[in-house]
Amino acid sequence: MSICKFCGTEIDWIQTKDGQYIPINFDPVFVIEDGGRERFIEDTGTEIIGRLARPEEENCNLPVAFVPHVRTCGNRLNFR
Ligand SMILES: [Zn+2]
Repeated sequence: MSICKFCGTEIDWIQTKDGQYIPINFDPVFVIEDGGRERFIEDTGTEIIGRLARPEEENCNLPVAFVPHVRTCGNRLNFR
């Protein structure tokens, strides 16, 4: 675990299939695949595209993945 130097949130790092490390939000989320165009990273490093499940849509058959932190960082304008 580490702390985002821009917003102070707890983040983690995950290695994607192409060997890149990207910062992710600490808490995994349920993803609706094909429901959107947002990027999520599974714990295996596989990227999936979809959207965040709404609370009433969550169930254990959905893929669980992490949100790239850059998307929710409170200071994302500095995040480059
Ligand atoms: Zn941040």
